Amino acid sequence: MNVSGLSPQQLELQARARELAKGPVTQRAAEVDRTEQYPWDNVGLLKDARLIGMTIPERYGGQGKSWLDAVLAIEALSSACAVTGRIAVETNMGAISAVMAYGSEEQKKLAADMVLGGDKPAICITEPEAGSDANGMTTRADRKGNRYVVNGRKHWITGGGVSRLHLIFAKVYDDKGNEEGIGGFLAIRDETPGLRITKREPTMGLRGIPEAVIDFEEMELPPSALVIPPRGLKKGFADLMNAYNSQRVGAATVALGIAQGAYQLALDWSEERHQFGRPINEFQGLQWKLADMSIKLRAAQALVYDAARSGEGGFPDMLLAAQAKVFTSESAIQVVNDALQFFGARGYSRELPLERMARDVRMFTIGGGTAEVLRNVVAGALLKKKLPQTRDGWGKA
Ligand SMILES: Cc1cc2nc3c(=O)[nH]c(=O)nc-3n(C[C@H](O)[C@H](O)[C@H](O)COP(=O)(O)OP(=O)(O)OC[C@H]3O[C@@H](n4cnc5c(N)ncnc54)[C@H](O)[C@@H]3O)c2cc1C
Repeated sequence: MNVSGLSPQQLELQARARELAKGPVTQRAAEVDRTEQYPWDNVGLLKDARLIGMTIPERYGGQGKSWLDAVLAIEALSSACAVTGRIAVETNMGAISAVMAYGSEEQKKLAADMVLGGDKPAICITEPEAGSDANGMTTRADRKGNRYVVNGRKHWITGGGVSRLHLIFAKVYDDKGNEEGIGGFLAIRDETPGLRITKREPTMGLRGIPEAVIDFEEMELPPSALVIPPRGLKKGFADLMNAYNSQRVGAATVALGIAQGAYQLALDWSEERHQFGRPINEFQGLQWKLADMSIKLRAAQALVYDAARSGEGGFPDMLLAAQAKVFTSESAIQVVNDALQFFGARGYSRELPLERMARDVRMFTIGGGTAEVLRNVVAGALLKKKLPQTRDGWGKA
């Protein structure tokens, strides 16, 4: 039954992505996790299947697909391999979508060519002292004559060390030292002296994509590297972050896909595994668990699809994207945990994918805006109020 109102083209796309997921992507998932190597082979597969750069407009070589189209591919891929799902997110949403919406012609062409060639752009916002409070960033770009000089440190940058294109957020200062607001700069690793990957984080899950510390030391960029949204630099950060709503929907989709994969494994196993002389799915305790898991997945999917649909012609709605990410990330953790329980001791073994899925899915209430901070976003939208979190911000809303 097509309960999600998908078009025949979308059903075809979904089937194609599922086919790819079932085959080589599933086969390599454990190895990607064990070796902690970026799955370049899978990037090749995604490229061949035209599942990366799908949302890039046709005039830049993409297919002009919708967010929902991207979501369908990401959902299918993530049920087999979350790392591959994340690559599909970041080659269709996030940094690439920000550049395609706000970049200059030259920037759009550069970014589109790189992504369609298989590069997963990195988005560099978070710093050691500025996580949820991104406005507190201290990385700075000082205008010095006909160039900007960037200094600072970012951490937990997904793809650091494999990504070439970087969208780097920094506080911009004019040549008299006056702060002009936060801007986003494009830089290419290995072609930009002063951009150095200085550490790889040892992560709990999602081990096939490096999370890195990146240092900028006297990194020189031309003014043409600055991505300036039409509303100008002062308001530009808000616009660039608006593009991030697509990434949030993408992150929610990966969590959804992982949980769907785990649920399917539990469902199949519940028929196969016998105890007390009967399949374990004849025990009501497990039947109700399956029912609850399926309800959470359906609700999460509806929220994610809705948020994706809200972005037609622009970016997903901030409230819907935040609601989808909070609910889906938290539900997915519960569903994967329950699925693992179905397998008893086997679920705890590294020979089965459940423990990997449990490690992978844990990330999604953290990265891309924590569940707590996104609840602030939801509350702010419902109350139609700014909810400043800084002490001196109170009362100023
Ligand atoms: C795997 C992974 C990949 C990532 N990839 C990227 C990337 O590519 N680029 C990038 O820029 N960043 C990336 N991040 C960073 C991520 O966006 C941050 O971790 C996130 O924004 C939270 O910041 P923090 O870790 O510093 O936590 P903190 O901000 O220090 O938060 C600590 C705790 O306090 C809570 N908290 C903070 N403020 C509030 C508040 N106002 N109200 C209620 N609770 C609050 C948080 O929810 C959290 O529970 C990634 C993180 C992970 C784990």
